[in-house]
Amino acid sequence: MDIKILVVDDNKLNLRLLQDILEDEKYKVYTTDSGFSVLEMAHNLKPDVILLDIMMPGMDGYDVCRLLKSDEEVMDIPVIMVTAKTEGNDLKIAFEMGAADYIKKPFDELEIIARIHSVLRTKQSQDILKDKASRDGLTGIYNHALLIQLFEKEIKKQAISGDDVSFVMLDIDHFKKINDSYGHTIGDAVLKELAMILSTSIRDSDYVGRYGGEEFSIILTKMNNDDTYEWCEMLRKKIQNHKFYAGDLLIQVTVSMGFYCKSAKDTIGSYDMIKTSDEALYKAKQNGRNKVEEGIVR
Ligand code: GH3
Ligand code: MG
Ligand code: MG
Repeated sequence: MDIKILVVDDNKLNLRLLQDILEDEKYKVYTTDSGFSVLEMAHNLKPDVILLDIMMPGMDGYDVCRLLKSDEEVMDIPVIMVTAKTEGNDLKIAFEMGAADYIKKPFDELEIIARIHSVLRTKQSQDILKDKASRDGLTGIYNHALLIQLFEKEIKKQAISGDDVSFVMLDIDHFKKINDSYGHTIGDAVLKELAMILSTSIRDSDYVGRYGGEEFSIILTKMNNDDTYEWCEMLRKKIQNHKFYAGDLLIQVTVSMGFYCKSAKDTIGSYDMIKTSDEALYKAKQNGRNKVEEGIVR
């Protein structure tokens, strides 16, 4: 995949120079001569690195950097400051503001490339660590903490989009029996396989995570109450019909689900949505398991 670099400099000649150097290295280069357009461009382009001139009229590099670093969506994009002055307070301020590195003017081609490589390498290992920290060790799907974070983000997004958001709580029926009959290792294998079924059953706009133990949660977007129910039923049957094996032995696995679908005008909070879905799950268990129940706010 192309590595994208956004270059910001009010001086057109500098822009041209940097663009030539970077394009020679096969980077995909985007440019702007105004600090005011950086935030929007960063959102739209999702560049891998931003080269940011400090001295610019209107909005200078510090202001732009401050804006970028206070925006959750773009704060992780490394910013390399471009500056003529490398003494005194300038660099100190730049680093305090969250800049990853700096490049001196006049430009030294080799140094620019070396610094970009170094920043990209650091970013790559940070991404790997971040991804590891957000995933469940056994199943590889999102862990509890990240799932809740994503859920809260979806609820915030709903305030703008007006789309429905559903929270589904899913729990394996009599999982203790599977552990007791076939052993913990087979139990683990069932959890992994189930996580795989769930991951491949959702759409790109949905999320699945391990809520804890043998409980999983799914966040569905743009599905109304009836659609959510239908989707859960589809999933329930799919799991019931799936062939889980312990060696040569076929294991019957079923799940119970509780869900709550929030329309945009519904003011329920994320915590209560999860609680209501959990109560619905409890009802599904009470009603005989291998069932889907809709949550009702009391
Ligand atoms: P119910 O239908 O009411 O949900 O019954 P259940 O047996 O599934 O539920 P219960 O809460 O009694 O037991 C859940 C079991 O899940 C107990 C626990 O040892 C097991 N479990 C939790 N996490 C793991 C895991 O990571 N691996 C394995 N193998 N078992 C786990
Ligand atoms: Mg269970
Ligand atoms: Mg349970």
